[in-house]
Amino acid sequence: MAGEPQDDCLFCKIVAGHVPATVVRETDATVAFQDINPQAPVHILVIPRAHYENAAELAAGAPELAAAVLKETKEVAEEQKLDSYRVVFNTGAGAGQTVFHAHAHVLGGRGMQWPPG
Ligand code: AMP
Ligand code: ZN
Repeated sequence: MAGEPQDDCLFCKIVAGHVPATVVRETDATVAFQDINPQAPVHILVIPRAHYENAAELAAGAPELAAAVLKETKEVAEEQKLDSYRVVFNTGAGAGQTVFHAHAHVLGGRGMQWPPG
């Protein structure tokens, strides 16, 4: 069911503390941690504690939680002293999503190209 922890979900395991992560910020609703394979000097993932498959499911099923995730991206960027940064929600395998628990990538600390690959 939407929002319920999934036994086979890596990020639900991180939320539960069953898989280690380098957590940089936590709120009642969200967790932010270092990406294990950083693509920029700063690469932090912000996730809702509740399980939604992707950003679209999150926005549709829990819009206030989606807003909380977005707010946390701003807090992370401020803490990391990023003036410019990119927030990415890969949504669907074709767009590069590999973990099917909604997450925002916060990327910064280097120049960024547009359009993205
Ligand atoms: P995506 O490809 O958009 O689904 O992003 C998933 C991200 O999760 C990738 O950037 C991975 O490097 C990252 N990732 C995978 N496993 C872990 C982990 N155990 N801890 C932290 N980040 C992870
Ligand atoms: Zn999950």
